[in-house]
Amino acid sequence: MTQNSIRIKDLRFSYHSQLKIENPLVLNIPELSIHPGEKIFLYGPSGFGKSTLLNILAGVLQVETGEVEVLGKSLQFISQGERDHLRGEKIGYIFQIFNLIPYLTIKENIQLPCLINKKRSLGIDIEAQAEELISTLGLKDFADKLVTDLSIGQQQRVAAARALIGNPQLIIADEPTSSLDEKNTHEFMNLLLSEWEKRKFTLIFVSHDTRLKEYFPKTISLPDINKI
Ligand code: ADP
Ligand code: MG
Repeated sequence: MTQNSIRIKDLRFSYHSQLKIENPLVLNIPELSIHPGEKIFLYGPSGFGKSTLLNILAGVLQVETGEVEVLGKSLQFISQGERDHLRGEKIGYIFQIFNLIPYLTIKENIQLPCLINKKRSLGIDIEAQAEELISTLGLKDFADKLVTDLSIGQQQRVAAARALIGNPQLIIADEPTSSLDEKNTHEFMNLLLSEWEKRKFTLIFVSHDTRLKEYFPKTISLPDINKI
């Protein structure tokens, strides 16, 4: 068992290192720990490696140097298949571009992670949870509509519901409000954080927009922790 949700030690990462050509280091993080249930604002200007770090935490990009522990698993010691399972079962990811499936209804989009990963829904009534999320996120009239029938603000709320379904222990949000206006950003933040109040998942919220840090008790600045 681990007492951290995330633990990084001496992580170094550059793209295409297997090509053995000189590649700039994108990440050099000596140390980072995030406790279970913490909500963290991870700040960094554009191009500073925020998405790269999140993709490493989600097990999409492979770590070659250093230690990365996520929800008690050392990612450097497990296979790509095992990392995919960990992500599918225990992690919710909200993208900058929403990545919703256009030919599925809102409800089907929300349920999708649990249909793909049966273990994500163990002990959970998925139908009931989808209904609850739809209602909490103010999408009741849209459950059976297609993504294209929704405004941008509503689409991002569907993306949040899709990340939240199945009660993942870790939610990673990569600049989810960057295409929203101020009003929709505020609504989105309040909805996401009220879900955090209910479930107390670990939340890593990434943005280049320093205004959003007022929503969080703790900010980690990538330029401070990334020693490139
Ligand atoms: P941020 O999310 O903070 O804007 P990124 O993690 O996307 O930053 O990018 C960090 C650096 O890594 C940038 O210099 C970017 O050009 C580079 N980079 C990102 N993705 C790739 C990739 N797939 N291949 C090569 N370089 C990449
Ligand atoms: Mg990015």
